[in-house]
Amino acid sequence: MQTKAAVLWDYGRDWEIEELTLDDPREGEVLVRLAASGLCHSDEHVRVGDLPMEALPAIGGHEGAGVVEAVGPGVRSVAEGDHVVLAFIPACGKCHWCAIGRENLCEKGAGTQVGLQQDGTARHHVGGHDARLMCQIGTFSPYTVVNEDSVVKIDDDIPLDKAALVGCGVTTGFGTAVYGAEVGAGDTVVVMGICGVGANAVQGARIAGAARIIAIDPAPFNREMAGKFGATHMYASAEEALEPIQEMTRGEMANAALVTVDVTNGKVISDAVSVVGKGGKVALTALAPYNLTDVQLPVLELIVYEKRLIGCLFGHSNPRSDIPKMLQLYRDGKLLLDELVTRTYTLDQINEGYEAMRTHNNIRGMLLYD
Ligand SMILES: [Zn+2]
Ligand SMILES: [Zn+2]
Repeated sequence: MQTKAAVLWDYGRDWEIEELTLDDPREGEVLVRLAASGLCHSDEHVRVGDLPMEALPAIGGHEGAGVVEAVGPGVRSVAEGDHVVLAFIPACGKCHWCAIGRENLCEKGAGTQVGLQQDGTARHHVGGHDARLMCQIGTFSPYTVVNEDSVVKIDDDIPLDKAALVGCGVTTGFGTAVYGAEVGAGDTVVVMGICGVGANAVQGARIAGAARIIAIDPAPFNREMAGKFGATHMYASAEEALEPIQEMTRGEMANAALVTVDVTNGKVISDAVSVVGKGGKVALTALAPYNLTDVQLPVLELIVYEKRLIGCLFGHSNPRSDIPKMLQLYRDGKLLLDELVTRTYTLDQINEGYEAMRTHNNIRGMLLYD
């Protein structure tokens, strides 16, 4: 079939809307008609080259939901007409990691930067080239073909433009708080960086029963949004927050710091380590440039205060159980999804949406397809 997609031809260039030729789904694959796709920061990391794909051109987008239009041979988990969320990491259900309840580390995740189908070939073709897919799903197109490992069936009553959000940002943020840093009732939690992921880290901490949720973000708009999602205190920088945290915790400092900034750097990690106290956990979720190795840490303090640094992918979650769980929390009115979408865009307006992200004028932009 013929459709359109937002394509990256070279690092540093804008997304370009191109004619896309899409092949039929093969063994184990499904054709999905997407309703919406979130504009996540990770695609911006790809665009600027912080997180390069194996090859270009590539179709961006890894946060989407839609309806299964057709299934290839051997597909068992979904059928035509099913509503699905696309998960940005596949969960095969059979590998070691899936078997021990760590679907976010599924062996099939190795293919996400390759961006081809699991058999190593492409269904997406642009201008005579095979197109790679962000996270093997490529949601910056009204249609895509993906492996059934990358789709999670959901109930039909959830609006698909809201469901799309749980394919990355919501589950990542919630899980960073609840699973990564294991936030508990009464805790003091610092969330560094309030955008699509950070706002949901705030929500996760709130739902887990944190007593104080301290949001740190230089952008006034983001701090204001943090309050809507449950932050109790807002500061522009870690330096500004340090003394108030000492006072409100009687010097014990925070139980957890969640790093959900735009781009992780050495200073943010040092700041996060400095705001937690004894036994404090620092969950690192925001992506860093692939070549970042330079981080200054108070090593003795890490040891004698038993502080912990925790890498956190997809919020340490299991997409097949956590995606439906997020949507149940939404249905129950506990998890806010409607409020996350600052503005919606058409596919043609995608670069405008990313410009709003870069200038801190949206929490989450959302592409809507007809
Ligand atoms: Zn994402
Ligand atoms: Zn697996």
